[in-house]
Amino acid sequence: MYDALDFNKNVHKIYEMSPSNKKHTCHALIVHCIDFRFQGAIRKLFNSLGLEHGHFDRLSVAGGAGNFKILEEHAPLSKKLHKPKLAILTIHEDCGAGAKKEDLREARQITKKSIPDTRCFYLKLNGHCEEVF
Ligand SMILES: [Zn+2]
Repeated sequence: MYDALDFNKNVHKIYEMSPSNKKHTCHALIVHCIDFRFQGAIRKLFNSLGLEHGHFDRLSVAGGAGNFKILEEHAPLSKKLHKPKLAILTIHEDCGAGAKKEDLREARQITKKSIPDTRCFYLKLNGHCEEVF
């Protein structure tokens, strides 16, 4: 049973670890921007790819996959720690952090060093999601 959030306490049991989580490996690494406008689109994207919550590493950073410095640090770390077989890289239109669709090319090269099976997606303001090859 889970504790209701009683703010007179500082420890709450709020979830159960599934058996698959205990084995400490995951299916994928997903990289996306922090931009709140695209969170629903990101969720629909990973649902449409058959990825379930609790089965992927999630890297939410300003600029998404266009944040090369963070990607260079975390793609190898995700591979080392959780052995994902697939990477999903995203960048969105009108990114305040300056990421551009063209950045997906370099992001793929960076990520493929750790996770060879890498798919890239560009999310648009009109709700369209384009896979970029
Ligand atoms: Zn952004």
